[in-house]
Amino acid sequence: HPSGLSKSRSRSESLYKEALEHIVGGVNSPSRSFKAVGGGAPVFMKRGKGAYFWDEDGNRYIDYLAAYGPIILGHAHPLVTEAICRAAENGTLYGTPTELEIEFARMLKAAIPSMDKVRFVNSGTEAVMTTIRVARAYTGRNKIIKFAGCYHGHSDLVLVAAGSGPSTLGIPDSAGIPVSIAHEVITVPYNNLAALDEALARWGEDVAAVMVEPIVGNFGMVMPKPGFLEGLCAAARRNGSLVIYDEVITAFRFHYGSAQTFDGLPAGTDFAAIEPDLTALGKIIGGGLPIGAYGGRQEIMSQVAPLGPAYQAGTMAGNPASISAGIACLQALQEPGVYARLDKLGAELEAGLTAAAGKHGIALTVNRICGALSTHFCSHPVTDYEQAQDTDSERFAQFFRYMLEEGICLAPSKFEAWFLTTAHTQADIAYTVEAAERAFARMD
Ligand code: PMP
Repeated sequence: HPSGLSKSRSRSESLYKEALEHIVGGVNSPSRSFKAVGGGAPVFMKRGKGAYFWDEDGNRYIDYLAAYGPIILGHAHPLVTEAICRAAENGTLYGTPTELEIEFARMLKAAIPSMDKVRFVNSGTEAVMTTIRVARAYTGRNKIIKFAGCYHGHSDLVLVAAGSGPSTLGIPDSAGIPVSIAHEVITVPYNNLAALDEALARWGEDVAAVMVEPIVGNFGMVMPKPGFLEGLCAAARRNGSLVIYDEVITAFRFHYGSAQTFDGLPAGTDFAAIEPDLTALGKIIGGGLPIGAYGGRQEIMSQVAPLGPAYQAGTMAGNPASISAGIACLQALQEPGVYARLDKLGAELEAGLTAAAGKHGIALTVNRICGALSTHFCSHPVTDYEQAQDTDSERFAQFFRYMLEEGICLAPSKFEAWFLTTAHTQADIAYTVEAAERAFARMD
């Protein structure tokens, strides 16, 4: 591994200047910008293999970004690459149904039993947006309740108090969203049932759904407190509202299945009591190609066209390349021991980072769930969005830059998680911990 300062990134810098001339902000997703970590050129990547990617100047990085989640097998996994090539050879799009879609729907339903019916779309944003439409169609109500700091994609309704990229850039309530639409969203703090009850008491009659990341991935990794999901589901049901789980990050992240059946939820979780009505999926299920999916109870999904009056469509939806990549990815994740290994490496990384920070007197809270973790520069626990905001942004920016110099790529935001892949090794983790210790030494 490279040690000490890395080589020049002059090609990234000149490409960034060029990109700025043609692409708004130089990036095709704002979370890729370095605005929150001191500005300047983001690193332009050229290729990836396994746990590493190489930039345009030839520098190698250990990748903890994993493309914001999908790349759980690492870059260019041979089974995924082969599946995509095979699909491409037979034509990339027909505009007709295919057998592959049935196979994949079967796989998803087997892993996430709350989904009687599935529909494929092209992104997490689309999946979430449609679950809201379906919930409104089913209940005849308009409002939704969401939790502060949870990010659910960039559709109008859910860009209110959104974590992730919007919070990083200081625009959790996006411009361009009519006040009339913002009025249809009620935001309450995560892990706070009293606030949810209060919101339901006030607006309940018009609440179509309560939407939540059952385990949060967008203001760091945050576990629901014991009883939170049970209480949320019970309160929604008493009120005649649906429960929507946004599992775009969490599905297939911690085990072969979704958060709603994950045995790492707080001890004593009543799984029957936390089953959602609708689930939104994305990221990992596409193996690195564009995808989203949503599904849920038969009678609710029957609202969707052509069966029902709620319209949702897609020229690219269910395309053979994305579906093939998704099938290959999930097949690889079925190998025995995959998640136990992610958990073990995650534990080593967590322990190493915590010890290194302690040694240099840096206040650091690490939240970890299996192979996903978040680093918060603070001395308090992080269980909600307010606590995640109340952390040292300057320190995070410094840490991010020092780690980049060490050849380690994190997301350029204090709210984003680190994601391990099946390609990371113990040596990668050990090097990362050493690098972090050097970074902390420069910061104290
Ligand atoms: N929901 C969650 C929980 C997410 O983390 C994201 C993306 N980070 C989305 C929805 C939106 O997905 P996409 O970027 O594929 O539209």
